[in-house]
Amino acid sequence: MTAVSPALDAALAKLADSEHLLIALDFDGTLAPFVDRPEDARALPEAQRAVEKLLEISHTTVAYVSGRAVDSLQLASESPDGVLLVGSHGAEYRFDGVDAHPPLSAEDSARVAALAEAFLGFADEHPGVSIERKPAGFAVHTRGVETDAAFSAENDARRIVADVYPDATVRDGKNVLEFSVLSATKGDAIRHLRDYTGATAVLYSGDDVTDEDAFRVLAESDLALKSGDGPTVAPYRVEAPAEVAAVLHRLAELRAATGR
Ligand SMILES: [Mg+2]
Repeated sequence: MTAVSPALDAALAKLADSEHLLIALDFDGTLAPFVDRPEDARALPEAQRAVEKLLEISHTTVAYVSGRAVDSLQLASESPDGVLLVGSHGAEYRFDGVDAHPPLSAEDSARVAALAEAFLGFADEHPGVSIERKPAGFAVHTRGVETDAAFSAENDARRIVADVYPDATVRDGKNVLEFSVLSATKGDAIRHLRDYTGATAVLYSGDDVTDEDAFRVLAESDLALKSGDGPTVAPYRVEAPAEVAAVLHRLAELRAATGR
Protein backbone atom coordinates (compact mmCIF):
# COMPACT_ATOMS: atom_id res chain seq x y z
CA MET A 1 0.00 0.00 0.00
CA THR A 2 1.09 3.56 -0.76
CA ALA A 3 3.00 5.28 2.02
CA VAL A 4 1.66 8.51 3.47
CA SER A 5 4.08 11.49 3.38
CA PRO A 6 5.69 12.42 6.73
CA ALA A 7 4.00 15.85 6.83
CA LEU A 8 0.58 14.37 6.17
CA ASP A 9 1.26 11.58 8.66
CA ALA A 10 2.00 14.14 11.40
CA ALA A 11 -1.21 16.01 10.56
CA LEU A 12 -3.18 12.75 10.73
CA ALA A 13 -1.69 11.93 14.14
CA LYS A 14 -2.88 15.30 15.46
CA LEU A 15 -6.33 14.74 14.00
CA ALA A 16 -6.53 11.22 15.45
CA ASP A 17 -6.15 12.72 18.93
CA SER A 18 -9.27 14.89 18.70
CA GLU A 19 -12.21 14.08 20.93
CA HIS A 20 -14.85 13.54 18.25
CA LEU A 21 -13.62 13.07 14.72
CA LEU A 22 -15.72 13.60 11.60
CA ILE A 23 -14.34 12.10 8.40
CA ALA A 24 -16.26 13.64 5.51
CA LEU A 25 -15.53 12.33 2.04
CA ASP A 26 -16.54 13.12 -1.48
CA PHE A 27 -17.32 9.97 -3.47
CA ASP A 28 -16.48 10.15 -7.21
CA GLY A 29 -12.78 10.80 -7.83
CA THR A 30 -12.06 10.51 -4.11
CA LEU A 31 -13.22 7.06 -2.95
CA ALA A 32 -14.20 5.78 -6.40
CA PRO A 33 -12.15 6.06 -9.61
CA PHE A 34 -13.93 7.76 -12.52
CA VAL A 35 -15.82 5.56 -14.96
CA ASP A 36 -17.75 6.49 -18.11
CA ARG A 37 -21.19 5.68 -16.68
CA PRO A 38 -21.76 7.30 -13.25
CA GLU A 39 -24.00 4.37 -12.18
CA ASP A 40 -21.02 1.99 -12.53
CA ALA A 41 -18.79 3.90 -10.09
CA ARG A 42 -17.83 1.98 -6.91
CA ALA A 43 -15.50 2.80 -4.04
CA LEU A 44 -12.16 1.00 -4.18
CA PRO A 45 -12.35 -2.10 -1.97
CA GLU A 46 -9.48 -0.77 0.17
CA ALA A 47 -11.37 2.51 0.66
CA GLN A 48 -14.49 0.59 1.68
CA ARG A 49 -12.45 -1.46 4.17
CA ALA A 50 -10.85 1.68 5.65
CA VAL A 51 -14.28 3.25 6.14
CA GLU A 52 -15.50 0.09 7.89
CA LYS A 53 -12.48 0.22 10.23
CA LEU A 54 -13.17 3.89 11.05
CA LEU A 55 -16.84 3.12 11.77
CA GLU A 56 -15.80 0.61 14.44
CA ILE A 57 -13.97 3.30 16.43
CA SER A 58 -15.98 5.22 19.01
CA HIS A 59 -16.43 9.01 18.80
CA THR A 60 -15.70 8.74 15.09
CA THR A 61 -18.23 9.56 12.36
CA VAL A 62 -17.96 8.99 8.62
CA ALA A 63 -20.01 11.00 6.11
CA TYR A 64 -20.14 10.94 2.31
CA VAL A 65 -20.69 14.37 0.80
CA SER A 66 -21.46 14.19 -2.90
CA GLY A 67 -22.92 16.14 -5.77
CA ARG A 68 -24.94 13.03 -6.63
CA ALA A 69 -28.58 12.85 -5.67
CA VAL A 70 -28.68 11.01 -2.33
CA ASP A 71 -30.41 7.93 -3.89
CA SER A 72 -27.66 7.63 -6.46
CA LEU A 73 -25.00 8.14 -3.77
CA GLN A 74 -26.48 5.38 -1.60
CA LEU A 75 -26.59 2.93 -4.53
CA ALA A 76 -23.11 3.67 -5.87
CA SER A 77 -21.40 3.89 -2.48
CA GLU A 78 -23.03 0.72 -1.06
CA SER A 79 -22.51 2.72 2.10
CA PRO A 80 -22.00 0.65 5.23
CA ASP A 81 -24.53 1.22 8.05
CA GLY A 82 -23.62 4.29 10.03
CA VAL A 83 -22.27 6.42 7.18
CA LEU A 84 -24.12 9.74 7.02
CA LEU A 85 -25.08 10.60 3.45
CA VAL A 86 -25.21 14.10 2.01
CA GLY A 87 -26.36 14.42 -1.61
CA SER A 88 -26.82 17.21 -4.15
CA HIS A 89 -23.99 19.27 -2.60
CA GLY A 90 -25.74 19.70 0.74
CA ALA A 91 -29.35 19.95 -0.45
CA GLU A 92 -30.18 16.36 0.65
CA TYR A 93 -29.37 14.51 3.87
CA ARG A 94 -29.94 10.86 4.77
CA PHE A 95 -28.91 9.91 8.30
CA ASP A 96 -29.40 6.31 9.49
CA GLY A 97 -31.66 5.62 6.52
CA VAL A 98 -33.95 8.55 7.28
CA ASP A 99 -34.19 11.55 4.97
CA ALA A 100 -33.36 14.60 7.01
CA HIS A 101 -33.68 17.33 4.39
CA PRO A 102 -36.71 19.57 4.21
CA PRO A 103 -39.05 19.00 1.24
CA LEU A 104 -38.93 21.54 -1.61
CA SER A 105 -41.26 24.51 -1.36
CA ALA A 106 -44.13 24.70 -3.87
CA GLU A 107 -42.26 27.48 -5.73
CA ASP A 108 -39.08 25.43 -5.96
CA SER A 109 -41.00 22.33 -7.13
CA ALA A 110 -42.62 24.42 -9.88
CA ARG A 111 -39.16 25.71 -10.90
CA VAL A 112 -37.77 22.17 -11.14
CA ALA A 113 -40.78 21.10 -13.25
CA ALA A 114 -40.38 24.09 -15.58
CA LEU A 115 -36.67 23.30 -16.04
CA ALA A 116 -37.43 19.62 -16.69
CA GLU A 117 -39.92 20.60 -19.38
CA ALA A 118 -37.43 22.93 -21.04
CA PHE A 119 -34.89 20.08 -21.21
CA LEU A 120 -37.20 17.55 -22.88
CA GLY A 121 -35.39 16.38 -26.01
CA PHE A 122 -32.07 17.90 -24.94
CA ALA A 123 -30.25 14.55 -24.82
CA ASP A 124 -31.58 13.68 -28.30
CA GLU A 125 -30.16 16.90 -29.71
CA HIS A 126 -26.78 16.25 -28.06
CA PRO A 127 -25.67 12.65 -28.68
CA GLY A 128 -23.71 11.12 -25.81
CA VAL A 129 -24.89 13.75 -23.33
CA SER A 130 -27.07 12.48 -20.50
CA ILE A 131 -29.40 14.32 -18.17
CA GLU A 132 -29.61 13.22 -14.53
CA ARG A 133 -32.72 14.36 -12.70
CA LYS A 134 -32.20 15.42 -9.09
CA PRO A 135 -34.79 16.42 -6.52
CA ALA A 136 -33.85 20.09 -6.77
CA GLY A 137 -32.58 20.29 -10.35
CA PHE A 138 -30.49 18.21 -12.70
CA ALA A 139 -27.04 17.51 -14.06
CA VAL A 140 -25.84 17.51 -17.67
CA HIS A 141 -23.19 14.79 -18.02
CA THR A 142 -20.64 15.07 -20.85
CA ARG A 143 -18.09 12.43 -19.87
CA GLY A 144 -16.83 10.68 -23.02
CA VAL A 145 -18.28 13.38 -25.31
CA GLU A 146 -15.84 15.13 -27.69
CA THR A 147 -14.70 18.56 -26.38
CA ASP A 148 -16.48 20.79 -28.96
CA ALA A 149 -19.74 18.87 -28.65
CA ALA A 150 -19.55 18.99 -24.84
CA PHE A 151 -18.89 22.73 -24.94
CA SER A 152 -21.86 23.37 -27.21
CA ALA A 153 -24.14 21.18 -25.06
CA GLU A 154 -23.09 23.07 -21.93
CA ASN A 155 -23.67 26.42 -23.63
CA ASP A 156 -27.13 25.34 -24.78
CA ALA A 157 -27.93 24.13 -21.27
CA ARG A 158 -26.82 27.41 -19.70
CA ARG A 159 -28.94 29.36 -22.22
CA ILE A 160 -32.04 27.28 -21.49
CA VAL A 161 -31.64 27.67 -17.74
CA ALA A 162 -31.01 31.42 -18.04
CA ASP A 163 -34.34 31.71 -19.89
CA VAL A 164 -36.37 29.55 -17.52
CA TYR A 165 -34.92 30.33 -14.10
CA PRO A 166 -31.97 32.75 -14.15
CA ASP A 167 -31.50 32.47 -10.37
CA ALA A 168 -30.67 28.75 -10.57
CA THR A 169 -27.39 27.77 -8.93
CA VAL A 170 -24.96 26.58 -11.61
CA ARG A 171 -22.06 24.30 -10.70
CA ASP A 172 -19.30 23.46 -13.09
CA GLY A 173 -17.59 20.14 -12.41
CA LYS A 174 -15.44 17.67 -14.31
CA ASN A 175 -17.55 16.70 -17.35
CA VAL A 176 -20.69 17.74 -15.56
CA LEU A 177 -22.70 20.94 -15.39
CA GLU A 178 -25.31 21.11 -12.65
CA PHE A 179 -28.32 23.30 -12.10
CA SER A 180 -30.19 23.52 -8.84
CA VAL A 181 -33.05 25.68 -7.58
CA LEU A 182 -31.37 25.52 -4.15
CA SER A 183 -28.14 27.24 -3.29
CA ALA A 184 -26.60 24.80 -0.76
CA THR A 185 -22.88 24.10 -1.10
CA LYS A 186 -20.61 21.44 0.35
CA GLY A 187 -19.47 24.14 2.78
CA ASP A 188 -23.02 24.31 4.17
CA ALA A 189 -22.98 20.52 4.38
CA ILE A 190 -19.79 20.51 6.47
CA ARG A 191 -21.19 23.15 8.85
CA HIS A 192 -24.36 21.11 9.29
CA LEU A 193 -22.47 17.83 9.82
CA ARG A 194 -20.17 19.48 12.36
CA ASP A 195 -23.16 20.73 14.37
CA TYR A 196 -25.07 17.48 14.03
CA THR A 197 -22.17 15.26 15.17
CA GLY A 198 -20.55 17.66 17.63
CA ALA A 199 -17.24 16.98 15.91
CA THR A 200 -14.13 18.59 17.42
CA ALA A 201 -12.09 18.00 14.24
CA VAL A 202 -12.91 17.28 10.61
CA LEU A 203 -11.06 15.58 7.78
CA TYR A 204 -12.51 16.49 4.39
CA SER A 205 -11.29 15.01 1.14
CA GLY A 206 -12.52 15.76 -2.38
CA ASP A 207 -11.30 16.11 -5.96
CA ASP A 208 -13.51 18.65 -7.70
CA VAL A 209 -14.21 22.39 -7.87
CA THR A 210 -17.28 22.09 -5.62
CA ASP A 211 -15.14 20.45 -2.90
CA GLU A 212 -13.33 23.76 -2.50
CA ASP A 213 -16.48 25.11 -0.76
CA ALA A 214 -15.97 22.42 1.89
CA PHE A 215 -12.22 23.08 2.20
CA ARG A 216 -12.91 26.78 2.76
CA VAL A 217 -15.05 26.23 5.88
CA LEU A 218 -12.44 24.05 7.60
CA ALA A 219 -10.64 25.40 10.67
CA GLU A 220 -7.03 25.09 11.73
CA SER A 221 -7.76 21.97 13.77
CA ASP A 222 -9.22 20.28 10.66
CA LEU A 223 -7.51 18.68 7.69
CA ALA A 224 -8.20 19.37 4.00
CA LEU A 225 -7.01 16.73 1.56
CA LYS A 226 -7.29 17.26 -2.18
CA SER A 227 -7.49 14.19 -4.41
CA GLY A 228 -6.00 14.56 -7.89
CA ASP A 229 -4.99 17.52 -10.07
CA GLY A 230 -6.30 21.06 -10.19
CA PRO A 231 -6.01 24.22 -8.13
CA THR A 232 -7.00 23.91 -4.47
CA VAL A 233 -6.91 25.72 -1.15
CA ALA A 234 -6.25 22.38 0.59
CA PRO A 235 -2.77 22.17 2.14
CA TYR A 236 -2.48 18.42 1.48
CA ARG A 237 -2.84 16.58 -1.79
CA VAL A 238 -2.73 12.96 -2.91
CA GLU A 239 -2.81 11.58 -6.44
CA ALA A 240 -5.95 9.49 -6.65
CA PRO A 241 -8.50 7.34 -4.75
CA ALA A 242 -5.90 4.62 -3.99
CA GLU A 243 -3.88 7.17 -1.99
CA VAL A 244 -7.00 8.52 -0.28
CA ALA A 245 -7.70 4.95 0.85
CA ALA A 246 -4.13 4.69 2.22
CA VAL A 247 -4.66 7.91 4.19
CA LEU A 248 -7.93 6.57 5.65
CA HIS A 249 -6.24 3.29 6.68
CA ARG A 250 -3.46 5.23 8.38
CA LEU A 251 -5.97 7.46 10.16
CA ALA A 252 -7.91 4.42 11.38
CA GLU A 253 -4.68 2.88 12.66
CA LEU A 254 -3.66 6.08 14.50
CA ARG A 255 -7.12 6.64 15.92
CA ALA A 256 -7.49 3.04 17.11
CA ALA A 257 -4.08 3.39 18.84
CA THR A 258 -5.45 6.23 20.98
CA GLY A 259 -7.48 3.55 22.76
CA ARG A 260 -10.93 4.56 21.53
MG1 LIG B 1 -15.74 14.10 -6.80
